[in-house]
Amino acid sequence: MDMINDSKNPSPAHLLDPSPEQIRSWANAAVELMAEYLGTIRNRRVYPYTSSRQIRERLDSSLPKEPVNFDELLHTFRSTLIELSRHNGHPRMFGYVQAPGTAIAAFADLLSSTLNANLTAWRSAPAAVEIERLTIDWIKQIIGFDRDAAGLFVSGGSMANMAALAAARRAKAPPEIQNKGAQSCAKALRVYASEETHHTVAKAAALLGIGHDNVRLISVDERYKINLHELVAAIEEDRTAGHLPICVVANAGTVATGAFDPLSQIGEIARRFNLWLHVDGAYGGFAALAPSARPLFASIGEADSVALDPHKWLYLPVDCGCILYRDPEAARATFAHEAEYTRVIGQEADEAFAFWDYGPELSRRFRALKVWMLLKGVGLQALSEAIEKDLACARHFETLVQNSEDFEMLAPVELSIFCSRHLPAGLKRALAAASPSVREKIEEQLDAHNERLLLALQRDGSSYLSNARLRGRFSLRGCVMNYRTTLRDMEILLDDLRRVAAQL
Ligand SMILES: *Cc1c(COP(=O)(O)O)cnc(C)c1O
Repeated sequence: MDMINDSKNPSPAHLLDPSPEQIRSWANAAVELMAEYLGTIRNRRVYPYTSSRQIRERLDSSLPKEPVNFDELLHTFRSTLIELSRHNGHPRMFGYVQAPGTAIAAFADLLSSTLNANLTAWRSAPAAVEIERLTIDWIKQIIGFDRDAAGLFVSGGSMANMAALAAARRAKAPPEIQNKGAQSCAKALRVYASEETHHTVAKAAALLGIGHDNVRLISVDERYKINLHELVAAIEEDRTAGHLPICVVANAGTVATGAFDPLSQIGEIARRFNLWLHVDGAYGGFAALAPSARPLFASIGEADSVALDPHKWLYLPVDCGCILYRDPEAARATFAHEAEYTRVIGQEADEAFAFWDYGPELSRRFRALKVWMLLKGVGLQALSEAIEKDLACARHFETLVQNSEDFEMLAPVELSIFCSRHLPAGLKRALAAASPSVREKIEEQLDAHNERLLLALQRDGSSYLSNARLRGRFSLRGCVMNYRTTLRDMEILLDDLRRVAAQL
């Protein structure tokens, strides 16, 4: 029985504050929908045929003055949202760096919104803050980071990278910048990162007044890892030119190919030149849970800060990013402020703890609950196995391509990202016979062919890839980040590509 429209009880409080029986009836219907959706997600097309106009036509756009009943809301969710969405939990959703979400975290989101804790400071949400501090502590252990490091959850990797650059600037640039602004420093602040670095690093530099163009993008080697000689040369050149190098960003998995920069050598360079070392592990950070990738993290302890995205390789639904700072005082110097309305009174030590001293946000939702429920409810063993399986899926695809006549890899598989392209027989022969002068023309035809193939694959709906440009060439790019994906799905993907290519 739905009582939201009950004319005998029209009070606003009743609509906003339903009875326990009403809550149970809504919950049963919503959970039934959830079970049905997750139970059949494999059978769906990954991406819908639709348009902005079609979706708008299905939504009632009039300002809702009167309430509709809950069933009607669920009906719209079922018929419009589910039908006209990309299904990120589908086992062959390989586009971008997309997690599937998990049922346990969906319940955690429900419960955290139920409690509606606001994690500004300990006194605002005592138990929830302790859960966040505990899960941050576990994440430090998972990646092998300093036990005394500070950290907190933020909206995502973009915010984590921005917080890290803010801390780097505070630590390595003249402190008066904090009060007088970037223009008070006569020298240009310089940040170094490989050209494969995620654009959010340059965006953060622009927003912080360091300047987009003061992020020097260093070239990469044949495995798409930063060229260390060029990094050192750029720092020395900048120092000679009177600039102020402050930070080097290392990638723990680049977004295009999954390349992992050499942390120990970059750490040595950072120490030599007194630079802040930030590691962007938004994509690859939780690969530390997979035994085969663990050695890559041996020198993570060198980092001054690490950006992570539990809403990527911990499979959690958005949003949940994470920033860790090796030296808590460096973070406090950046973010702590004095204001009467946030001053903590009458409390000591742990109870005086405030997250606003460590990051840019004041009000913060209870993101830690889904991390805690996932880690406790699933356990590290199963998560390690799932991540290791993702790595194996990418390697399996690489092997299939290497043993094929009609596809080639465009980058080595380091983690779970695989970049390849289709080589139709005619173009393949032409390329083999081409002189250097016509080679570029054929390469362009291959780019155009693979771009058409990608669009056709996305429209076909059985598998979904995205794209990358690697050394100027168009690449079909996939990322395995889903406990539902199997080795067999990689074979289906290659079959789908061949089937769709044959129809072009
Ligand atoms: C996804 C990603 C980011 C940005 O993170 P968001 O959570 O999308 O804000 C930054 N760096 C890398 C390497 C990423 O993969």
